[in-house]
Amino acid sequence: MPCVELCRTGSTGVAVLPEWRKDILTGRWVVIAAERGKRPLDFKVRRDRRAAVLCPLCPGHERETPPEVAAYRPVDTPPDTPGWRVRVVPNKFPAVRGEGPAAVQSCGIYRAMPGIGVHEMVIEAPEHVRGFEDLDPEQVAAVLRMWQERSRALRRLAWIKYIQVFKNTGQAAGASLEHTHSQIVALPLVPDALRAELAGMAEHVQATGECPLCAMLRQEAEDGSRMIVQGRHAAVFAPFASRFPFEVWAVPRAHQEDFALAGEAVIRELAHLLRDVLGRLAGLLGSPPYNLVLHTAPVNSPCEHYHWHVEVLPRLAVCAGFEFGTGCYINPVAPEAAARHLREAGKSRAKKS
Ligand SMILES: [Zn+2]
Ligand SMILES: [Zn+2]
Ligand SMILES: [Zn+2]
Repeated sequence: MPCVELCRTGSTGVAVLPEWRKDILTGRWVVIAAERGKRPLDFKVRRDRRAAVLCPLCPGHERETPPEVAAYRPVDTPPDTPGWRVRVVPNKFPAVRGEGPAAVQSCGIYRAMPGIGVHEMVIEAPEHVRGFEDLDPEQVAAVLRMWQERSRALRRLAWIKYIQVFKNTGQAAGASLEHTHSQIVALPLVPDALRAELAGMAEHVQATGECPLCAMLRQEAEDGSRMIVQGRHAAVFAPFASRFPFEVWAVPRAHQEDFALAGEAVIRELAHLLRDVLGRLAGLLGSPPYNLVLHTAPVNSPCEHYHWHVEVLPRLAVCAGFEFGTGCYINPVAPEAAARHLREAGKSRAKKS
């Protein structure tokens, strides 16, 4: 089958045979099983509308969080008082904590290490809203700048090897608080997902001389079937081997390893694009729960090839026995169909405004 036809089998909207697809970044295989025929309406979720009463992240409740470690606030306001625009506090229930470095110890045939690391929460706005889609682009840009600032601060700890920024939105995506927030976990090791991408990148560069994300940007722009929105500095598309229905990636055009070094123009446009595409997902699917992850180069160690990017992973399908058993995913929505719906959602949003 010619490549173009193979790439587009899911784009027709009619029943097609399942197709195994390989992600050139990680080597991960995914089954696109579009004959299950899910349309956006089949995924529409009912919004969780619990009241904002007693929210510990709202202004006036600053004493209910651990003391802030950073904030964008007027200079005449003291820490842990209202007036802030973005506020960072240590996570009250950290997944990792304690100062490094720490040595790996033997425990018979096993190896272990103290659970050191830093876990912070970024309260993204004083307004009690759900996500980026409810904030103005300036506010989203301020959040991205705070991610950069914390990344630069945390890497001063020489034992930190990777800084994971992520956002859980909606209960089913792991958010225990409704108020828009993200999390930063600084780790003493480079986690597996990053190792897989680093290895995939190195392999692709060696085989072709080109970074796979730079190559993806070029092919997706030429092909168009999975492209959702393109800006001057970044593009948002549904990846060829999408694991999840309506998975989207936002990728900067310039090949750059480290998100913390991204310039102001890139940050402003990324804020605009993320807000736009999350708004489209919310409109199309009824504010689905989602995870957003920032993948960027490891810190405090040399890294030859990386291209930072943001992955948005809507939680519309459950991972079950097949996924846990094989590490492969079954995706019932072809990325071409997801991209088409999201392009159309953009047009109808433009008409409404
Ligand atoms: Zn709140
Ligand atoms: Zn690249
Ligand atoms: Zn990634």
